[in-house]
Amino acid sequence: MKIVVLKFGGTSVGTIKKIKKVAKIITDHKKNNYKVIVVSSAMSGVTNELIKKSIEISNNFSKSEYDVLVSSGEQIACSLIAGSLCHNGYKARSWLSWQVPIFTVGTHMNSRINQINKNKIIKYLKQGGIPIIAGFQGVNNENRITTIGRGGSDASAIMFAKFFKAEKCIIYTDVEGVYTTDPNKLKKAKKIKIISYEEMLEMASLGAKVMQPVSIQDARLSRIDVEVRSSFIRKPGTLITKKSKIKNSKIVTGISSTQNDSKVSLIGVKDKPGVAAAIFKPLSKNLINVDMVVQNISANGKETDLTFTIKADDLNKTRKIIQENKNINYRKLLFEKGVSKISIIGVGMITTPGVTFRMFQALANRKINIKVISTSEIKISVLIDKKNTIKALVALHKEFKLHHKK
Ligand code: ASP
Ligand code: MG
Repeated sequence: MKIVVLKFGGTSVGTIKKIKKVAKIITDHKKNNYKVIVVSSAMSGVTNELIKKSIEISNNFSKSEYDVLVSSGEQIACSLIAGSLCHNGYKARSWLSWQVPIFTVGTHMNSRINQINKNKIIKYLKQGGIPIIAGFQGVNNENRITTIGRGGSDASAIMFAKFFKAEKCIIYTDVEGVYTTDPNKLKKAKKIKIISYEEMLEMASLGAKVMQPVSIQDARLSRIDVEVRSSFIRKPGTLITKKSKIKNSKIVTGISSTQNDSKVSLIGVKDKPGVAAAIFKPLSKNLINVDMVVQNISANGKETDLTFTIKADDLNKTRKIIQENKNINYRKLLFEKGVSKISIIGVGMITTPGVTFRMFQALANRKINIKVISTSEIKISVLIDKKNTIKALVALHKEFKLHHKK
């Protein structure tokens, strides 16, 4: 059975007109002799509205009822899509999680799909039916409705592709694909034709908000080809796939930048075991996400400086936690707002020497000062003044020849 999973995001099903268009996309795949499984999100804005209602009832709204409430948005979208297909003469129906069933593990509001019962859906596909599955939801072992985290219908689609061994999972959304850098920041950004899971994970977690990062990780583990494309414009999108499928990869595939980061430096902390742990333990306890961490080599063997970055929103909380921390001593505590992390990402880096130098030189040529550096196998990140973000993006985009058509 040649199966394709099509996932439609909130904006793709945001109005009745758009839902009719989605029905057309679905039947085009069907005409190409695919068995089509559709996974839908809620109409845009609906989930937020439902969450607002729960807060109006209580700041401590029951988690299991929250799941029943917020998963209802998908029910509306699925019935409208199925209804539109029926109207056009196709065999289609909506499937809610308990009807499939889709089993989840974990806590309410944040469960994970671990099993999908295939029998009924396979039977329906064989009868020529088009199942329209409510994304974002499942049932737990107590037969209660669960949800799998905001943006979770991406993960629902990937899991269906996995369990049904689909040829491909297509994520239909409101952008044309994944770009070399944020097109809102840089007009010259180009759509990437093909990208590895690993690169995409770096791009996604760094702010290229096209797909939910955990669902990319799920796709990677199950080796599922994912295409991200627009539901409004008929153009090929971006294929996310395994490294071995990518020939002639560029050294750098994409550049990401963050906004609203802050830098924290502790000057003159003791250079002895346990100090870093003493600093970071209370931060992690308070759910403060620490990103880049750099510790200087201590010149005198006694003292060192430690720098890390956090989200600007966490700055006041972080300051308080450090100042009240009795377990650490330092000479000076410095904070800097308005910094931005620029990262170049590419699997080609592994085999190409000199990438770091090219990045630093390109920034130096524009007189952009680098404050912090961190690297991984396929990524180099630098922290710079936020006001230089666009300048840096332009310089690096040019240096690594990303504005050429790929
Ligand atoms: N409707 C859900 C949300 O808004 C799930 C999704 O969009 O993927 O988070
Ligand atoms: Mg969404």
